[in-house]
Amino acid sequence: MAQRLKGKTIVITGASSGIGKATAVEFAKTQPDDLKLILTARREDTLKEVAREIEGFAKGVKVLPVKLDISKIDQVQAFVGNLPEEFKDIDVLVNNAGLVKGMAQAPEISTADIDTMFSTNVTGLIAMTQAILPLLKAKDRGDIINIGSIAGREPYAGGSIYCATKAAVRSFTDAMRKELIATRIRVIVIDPGQVETEFSVVRFGGDTEKAKKVYEGVEPLTGEDIAEVVVFAAGRRENVVLADTLVFPSHQA
Ligand code: NDP
Repeated sequence: MAQRLKGKTIVITGASSGIGKATAVEFAKTQPDDLKLILTARREDTLKEVAREIEGFAKGVKVLPVKLDISKIDQVQAFVGNLPEEFKDIDVLVNNAGLVKGMAQAPEISTADIDTMFSTNVTGLIAMTQAILPLLKAKDRGDIINIGSIAGREPYAGGSIYCATKAAVRSFTDAMRKELIATRIRVIVIDPGQVETEFSVVRFGGDTEKAKKVYEGVEPLTGEDIAEVVVFAAGRRENVVLADTLVFPSHQA
């Protein structure tokens, strides 16, 4: 697998924490000799810390932290053009950035929270895909790996908008895979179950007590568990697509 990732340039959105950060670390561990990682998120200082951590153990990996809010379409559209020349030959896009804002029954969810979730989880993910796809098409190969959620398959009360955004990620991924069927570009969706990251803390507006309660009775996955699946998918030989994968902790119903 390491050989197949050699020399690749990989973009990860939401790489400042959780699954995205773990994915960056996992790629670097798997191919420490020759890899370029472009790590994006809104928290630039945190991204720089992640970059330092990776460069500390993987001397052959070049890491570029890029401050990017994917919900701001102008930033996404300027992203590729602003990259240094040596990072422009992108092979893999991991569309990981996402969030839940304001847990409530549908009628009570504010328009602002709806907009934050859709503009990040859906429009931002699509805009990133549109930005990177021409580069993959030009060489007729590459991977787009979208992080969906079990929420996109099994909607739950109190999470209607988040669930709808993740169902949109599934539909978009499926349609894209069909549109690109004649190419060597792989389009992949990985749907995690419960993963213990900052996600739940963001969901409850910083209330760590409430965030912890979500995992009662289930030993959640770690970001690393999902990262391993992402890197495995990217490391398959070209004719193998992990088109649609659900990853659960053993005791999640
Ligand atoms: P985290 O909160 O730890 O990570 C979310 C990441 O997204 C952060 O790096 C955050 O960085 C980034 N992000 C959020 N909004 C934006 C934005 N507008 N522009 C750019 N980056 C943004 O949570 P997870 O690692 O758990 O979440 C990663 C993905 O996994 C999400 O898509 C989530 O929906 C999905 N998922 C998570 C599950 C879980 O149980 N944790 C279950 C199923 C799916 P910053 O704040 O610096 O911008």
